[in-house]
Amino acid sequence: MSDSIQLFVPTFRVEECLAEIRECFEKGWTGLGFKTVQFENAWKAYTGHRNAHFLASATAGLHLAVHVMKERYGWRDGDEVISTPITFVSTNHSILYERLNAIFADVDEYGCLDPDSVEQRVTSRTRAVIFVGLGGNTGRLPQIIEFCRAKGLKLILDAAHMAGARLNGSTPDKGIDAVVYSFHAVKNLPTADSGMVCFADQELDALVRQQSWLGIDKDTFTRTLSGGAYKWHYDVPRVGFKSHGNSIMAGIGLVQLKYLDQDNAYRRQLSAWYDEFLGGTNVIRRVPTAPGCESSRHLYQVCVPHRDEVFLALNNAGIFPGVHYRTNTDYAMYRHMADDCPNAGAFSKEVISLPLHLRLQRADVERVSRQLIDIVSDQNP
Ligand SMILES: *Cc1c(COP(=O)(O)O)cnc(C)c1O
Repeated sequence: MSDSIQLFVPTFRVEECLAEIRECFEKGWTGLGFKTVQFENAWKAYTGHRNAHFLASATAGLHLAVHVMKERYGWRDGDEVISTPITFVSTNHSILYERLNAIFADVDEYGCLDPDSVEQRVTSRTRAVIFVGLGGNTGRLPQIIEFCRAKGLKLILDAAHMAGARLNGSTPDKGIDAVVYSFHAVKNLPTADSGMVCFADQELDALVRQQSWLGIDKDTFTRTLSGGAYKWHYDVPRVGFKSHGNSIMAGIGLVQLKYLDQDNAYRRQLSAWYDEFLGGTNVIRRVPTAPGCESSRHLYQVCVPHRDEVFLALNNAGIFPGVHYRTNTDYAMYRHMADDCPNAGAFSKEVISLPLHLRLQRADVERVSRQLIDIVSDQNP
């Protein structure tokens, strides 16, 4: 059998990453500050976001976004946040960490939140919506932004798949309260584990900087004392967490960011090849990209009947795809939730993510596509 083809394989610019890490070691500074500040500035310049705070993960970013909004806007335990059941559990855990209720709305043909379904879920206790740009797709985000503005709801964009994604030529930012990125090893800007939270509001940015570092507020004293003397002399107005990023991860991020547009362009090329090879069959339904969206192409997704059998048959041919995602109501944690999301249920049973990473070539895409067509055709003669 020919070589196996994996779903994800991260690419690191090894020598450049090592040079950044070496600089940290030689300076004797691997923690918060130094490279984390450089990376935050580079990320703001690249995306156009006004604020950016570097964290240990996107999970921490989603949690802290909900946490600081709850505090600042006076949300109560049991208030509601509308979210999607088609996501990595981090998205919905971020709501539960803060003792809020996650309310699932249904998805559309992009696998993203459907604005009509969101509208139906709004109650007097709804405070926010979390939108996931599945696979780097913006879906119906513009309608969601408009709806949230009209209703006075906060909007968090889980952009874990969206590093480098653009909508009508720019990074989605306007009208969104917080955008959260993942730089986990399998995402489009791979480090090892890290993330970024980008708030529209400067005060939320200031608050998250305290809350990601145990709630420590050193600014009060650095402002009043000249020269930053008495480093131990800070206040702790709140109980915070320990989830800020470090200079080793930021150093890797600085290198990888230089290649993000180039890498995403190649991901779109791979996707175009998949479109070309799979375009002729109608049993394989390709998840479309929304109009105006330049997807980061974290994923290339199709929907097929008998997905689980197709998945195993691909494995037997040395091809290892993925599933993004099973509906979260399949998990014990979320099973009690009303299962009135028929599109999400169907998507969850049919969706498959085909191998997509920078080491693949046109011939690999052709091999995966031909295998997939053969398997699906055998099952649906
Ligand atoms: C990966 C992922 C996360 C979590 O990212 P981490 O950086 O690993 O915490 C959150 N949401 C989605 C949709 C993801 O794919």
